[in-house]
Amino acid sequence: MLQLVKMQVETALFFESVEQIYARVFRTIKPRTVLPEITVRFRKYANANSRIRLESGQLTVDISDTLEGAPAPIQEALAFILICKLFRKAPENSILARYRRYLNRADVRRTLHLVKQQRGRKALRDPKGQYFDLCEMFEDLNLKYFNGLMARPQLGWSLRPSRTTLGHYDPSHNVIVLTSVFDAPGVPELIVRFVMFHEMLHLRYPTQHKGARRCVHTKEFKDAERQFEAYEEAKLALKKFVEERR
Ligand SMILES: [Zn+2]
Repeated sequence: MLQLVKMQVETALFFESVEQIYARVFRTIKPRTVLPEITVRFRKYANANSRIRLESGQLTVDISDTLEGAPAPIQEALAFILICKLFRKAPENSILARYRRYLNRADVRRTLHLVKQQRGRKALRDPKGQYFDLCEMFEDLNLKYFNGLMARPQLGWSLRPSRTTLGHYDPSHNVIVLTSVFDAPGVPELIVRFVMFHEMLHLRYPTQHKGARRCVHTKEFKDAERQFEAYEEAKLALKKFVEERR
């Protein structure tokens, strides 16, 4: 009986709750500050993001529930990273590395990919824009360059008019997004088609992983891209478009 009690005490010491980890880390980083009330919540986020805030003696931490099952040393590393961030301090490199190594684990990456796929809503504007209809454009290019055989992914205009990301293909959601900067008067159709074609080639030639190397635009990809109508003209027009809007 006595022994059992002792064992329970030891277990309690051994297994800190997540709140206890945050309290201990807080005391390490801010030994002279009064310890706030600590609440840690695991939330259904579409990624591994976490948030921390300190308001009137209450420290609230929101962590992605994908990290709920992470081992204590990882919770501890994240606690250091978040509390350091709160006080604008730089966490130790070894702590950052510990957390990053965990996120890079194949099983963790796989979980995050699946969660992103299931939860991440892709907020997009209707593919039928004011000036260009992306579905029409896709089908036209599909017929011309892919014998009409490419299955149409979800298509849409970006919510924010990005000047740097003109287009992208997201394999998690199977969606091609084009910047809404293009859906405007005076934009040459050729460049919109060229960017759409480029993103379609990403579907045709998926990213290759060779060991640690990641090859996005392979030789095959580039050769295929050169088959585009008025390739040189399109490239020049796109370059001019980007420079004019810088
Ligand atoms: Zn690309």
